[in-house]
Amino acid sequence: MSRASSALLLMSMLAAAPAHAQWLSRTVDGIMGTRIYVEIWADDQAKGEAAIDAVMDEMRHIDDTMSTYKPSSEVSRVNALAARQPVPISLELFKLLGTALEYSRITEGAFDITYASVGYMYDFREHKKPTESQIEAALPAVSFRHVLLDARTHSVRFSQPGVRIDLGGIAKGYSVDRGIEILQARGYTHALVNAGGDSRVIGDRFGRPWVVGIRHPDHPDQVITRIPLVDSAFSTSGDYERYFDEGGVRYHHIIDPHTGHSASKVRSATVIAPTATRTDGLSKTAFVLGPDEAMRIYNRLDDVDAVLVAPDGRILYSKGLQPGDTPSAIAAPAAAAPPDAAAPAPPAVH
Ligand code: ADP
Ligand code: MG
Repeated sequence: MSRASSALLLMSMLAAAPAHAQWLSRTVDGIMGTRIYVEIWADDQAKGEAAIDAVMDEMRHIDDTMSTYKPSSEVSRVNALAARQPVPISLELFKLLGTALEYSRITEGAFDITYASVGYMYDFREHKKPTESQIEAALPAVSFRHVLLDARTHSVRFSQPGVRIDLGGIAKGYSVDRGIEILQARGYTHALVNAGGDSRVIGDRFGRPWVVGIRHPDHPDQVITRIPLVDSAFSTSGDYERYFDEGGVRYHHIIDPHTGHSASKVRSATVIAPTATRTDGLSKTAFVLGPDEAMRIYNRLDDVDAVLVAPDGRILYSKGLQPGDTPSAIAAPAAAAPPDAAAPAPPAVH
């Protein structure tokens, strides 16, 4: 081979090689009432941007289907009709309702999408809350047992009037899992998807774990602990996300299905598990049941870990995060992580 032709060969090989592998990231505000953040390791910038577009489109689709703020959404239609007649719904919504009911059972009723039968009367931005008598009147409609699914017709029916559902406690986790599935189907093996309090990572960051910072409930700029993770999902729920304080009481967006009031038995709960649907479905539990009862449930589930901040500031760790009983993926000292490691984008407060 002549010198000239070998140079040509080298050049064509260079042209065929990936232009320049890099981390691509994007933040989009205002989908599902929150901020979406996607980060991927991409060989090809144009394909990487298109993959992120596809993730954002999927998030918009889930918002359009499941938001109770959109009168045209499937969930709004269910709320308007299902107390009177069975409402046929998409397979996607049917499956997610089934999953939501499963989390009600796992959490012994702490997670309950019918919280909305009372919850719709709160508006945290407007500092609005229902009166005691309004809560009392609406409370009998709160129970996941009122949601009846018919697998033959893919329809949903409510067993009594006044029942409303809201998927705000699980749809973001679900959307994160859908985002990860879309990226995996396109061949991405290193990525982070975050929607509000819910995140999931695949792969690692160059042989090092992703590092999740858990925020101090009163000082959003302070991190109380860092947890290194690989191939994992995590959700943090906090009483500092959407709230107002009045007469020494904090009214915030996690509602105790038994009382119709804000659930305040912890200040924040972070749950770690393989999927974000699972972590989202479990992160509200500690607010309703309290740290000890919630830890009993988390510790019963082999693939779940949790970090809870109690009202007195105590930090509780699940079995898998206790010193001496630490899974190897989590054992890397936090100090070994890169300083710019991913703390999820702070959730939008509104
Ligand atoms: P984020 O919306 O940032 O992911 P969370 O995961 O903590 O925050 O979810 C809070 C949302 O869960 C509330 O805004 C509400 O829509 C819904 N929710 C509130 N209480 C309950 C409950 N007891 N069971 C299920 N969902 C709930
Ligand atoms: Mg969530």
